[in-house]
Amino acid sequence: MGCIKLDILEKSFVPMKVVYSSSDVEQKSVQRFLRVDPLYEKYPDMSPYVYCAGNPVKFIDPNGREFDEANEKIAKEIESNINAKILELQEQQDGQIVQETDISDRISELQKSKTDISDMRNKKGVKFHYKSANDESNPAGKGNPTIEGLDTESVIMYVEDNMESKLHEGRHGGDVARGSLTYDTYCVNHEVSAYKAQYSYQGSFDCIPYIDYEKNPSLLLQMITKGVASFKQNITNMKEITPSLIKNLVDQPGVNQKLLYPQFK
Ligand SMILES: [Zn+2]
Repeated sequence: MGCIKLDILEKSFVPMKVVYSSSDVEQKSVQRFLRVDPLYEKYPDMSPYVYCAGNPVKFIDPNGREFDEANEKIAKEIESNINAKILELQEQQDGQIVQETDISDRISELQKSKTDISDMRNKKGVKFHYKSANDESNPAGKGNPTIEGLDTESVIMYVEDNMESKLHEGRHGGDVARGSLTYDTYCVNHEVSAYKAQYSYQGSFDCIPYIDYEKNPSLLLQMITKGVASFKQNITNMKEITPSLIKNLVDQPGVNQKLLYPQFK
């Protein structure tokens, strides 16, 4: 919203006195909006002169900017899916006599994903976009989720068509919005955080670790006879998501295995 400060008090104006303090309390200025909210067409049931839906305690609108319309639609969908999942997990939690799982970790992680979205939405001077990982413009190659444009005014999250991928790249986007993820600071902890965000939605994911076949010839035999799927690890607790797990994730399992994040070795 465009606004400037207007001084309304003349020098001759007598300042108000308050009884509990010796100092004068003077209302020096007042905030006035000089034009309507640039996004007022999106909120037809609200006066365009109302700041933050009339609730400035709950909402802030530092610059009147947010996702563009298409991306806001995606962000809203993600938020409502997160809310539904949180409700589902809370019901599960209420039904449990003994807390054996990591449900509360997952709930707080899902809450963080909501913060990721609001931080991206409120980031001044940077526009965040969701795009399909299958888009031709994906710099990581079609089908590979990634985030592009760190340190620029236009950050693109290339995501798969599932919540896990949207929460993973969304965590990176949130970190960018908060200034904690740049090309220079990117490290394994950013991936640990993103995998936790991804994991929180389903509560499990499969991965295959890097295997040193030269050191362990018996594992080579296992790979040949039972296949790479026999090395599959099923992660079912958030505490299993550690830097060493991420460092050992493999892109193409088998004899031609490649580390997914060789830069962290
Ligand atoms: Zn990532």
